[in-house]
Amino acid sequence: MTPHPTPTPTHVLHRSLRSTPPMAVRGDGVWLEDGAGRRYLDASGGAAVSCLGHGHPEVRAAMHAQIDQLCYAHTSFFTSAVAEQLADQLVRTAPEGISHAYMVSGGSEAVEAALKMARQYFVEIGQPERSHFIARRQSYHGNTLGALAVGGNEWRRRQFGPLLIDVTHVAPCYPYREQRPDETPEQYGQRLARELDETIQRIGPGKVIAFVAETVGGATAGVLVPVPGYFKAVREVCDRHGVLLILDEVMSGMGRTGTLHACKQEGVVPDLMTIAKGLGGGYQPIGAVLAQQRIIEAMSTGSGFFQHGHTYLGHPVACAAALAVQQVIERAGLLEKVRRDGVTLQQLLAERLAEHPHVGEIRGRGLFWGVELVAERAGKIPFDPARRLHARIKSEAFARGLLVYPMGGTVDGRYGDHVLLAPPFITSGDELALIAERLAQAIDAAIAQG
Ligand code: PLP
Repeated sequence: MTPHPTPTPTHVLHRSLRSTPPMAVRGDGVWLEDGAGRRYLDASGGAAVSCLGHGHPEVRAAMHAQIDQLCYAHTSFFTSAVAEQLADQLVRTAPEGISHAYMVSGGSEAVEAALKMARQYFVEIGQPERSHFIARRQSYHGNTLGALAVGGNEWRRRQFGPLLIDVTHVAPCYPYREQRPDETPEQYGQRLARELDETIQRIGPGKVIAFVAETVGGATAGVLVPVPGYFKAVREVCDRHGVLLILDEVMSGMGRTGTLHACKQEGVVPDLMTIAKGLGGGYQPIGAVLAQQRIIEAMSTGSGFFQHGHTYLGHPVACAAALAVQQVIERAGLLEKVRRDGVTLQQLLAERLAEHPHVGEIRGRGLFWGVELVAERAGKIPFDPARRLHARIKSEAFARGLLVYPMGGTVDGRYGDHVLLAPPFITSGDELALIAERLAQAIDAAIAQG
């Protein structure tokens, strides 16, 4: 093995300016390996990205073939066969009424494009007074300014607040903390929909462009699964006020929850949907907006174009990777496996953690799971944020050769800790058991640090 020492000093602006992470040198299946030959089980697929694991031969072959054929052609001059095929695939498998895919380079770009498409739609149909978005607290939609503005994580927004468009945030669907003891999950969902209704009315029904929500809340809240009926009620409120529903499935979509789109399990169809991470599985940077026919028609019969664009729209190599990823998932029946393995992972986590004095809730769907940590279970009291428990769990897991995606601020942007799991769809039963085992050890070790 050739060692790959980390250069000192580094000229890469890393996420932390105080430390340089170890160097990743190869990936194989669910395992990543660093320069010292240490192997890590990638139980979070990075950030819920690597749905097929690392180094999948068919995806690599598709990328090689595309590189040999055509790497790049600017979309103002040309389309490419592979972008057309990917869009066909995405529309064929999309919720009813979705007619077009707009391919960008990641999740934040997809969210930005969706926000602008929604605004342009209303300008095209003669409702330019619609200029306001409603989104949810504790949500994450990306780090570019528009996406950050709709995002509801206080910590991420705070210092950039003066730069952000004015967005109204309503409550997330967070039953563990916010469902009242005297209401059923269904009643809780109806209450949240009423809050949305009242918020639209307060702002002025003719003023709101869209309600933006992650179908299953991800990064900042630790996998929030909606209560039954919530999204149906939300859809009904949006329809009543002519407000678009934008579902952000950048993290929860493309099979992660056991159906290709998370909204399928909610029985709703969005007007616009954003997808990214599992679309290309990390093999290339790619995201997309999936749009309803009537939105595209408003633009095509109106100004004739979507007033947006990036240099790397529909990048052929990214499209080739995504197309291959999606074809493998479909052909191998991996969504069925995700549903099966989801049940196994839930049981394994429950066996190791359900009775743990510092585990408040284990929640999730498919291969998308969150574990919320608490200092005290009965009162659901979070740990002191100064302990940075989430960061300690991450490093204890890392030391045990396990990659998980913990985050702090779960409750309100400041308090609360959770761990997010999003293993590749190809993970074996033994590897799922190893994930639960190493995670439990890491949690214990992190808490023992005091
Ligand atoms: N939307 C959601 C729901 C996400 O989880 C993320 C990333 O975690 C984004 C948008 C932003 O995606 P990206 O990091 O690719 O810009």
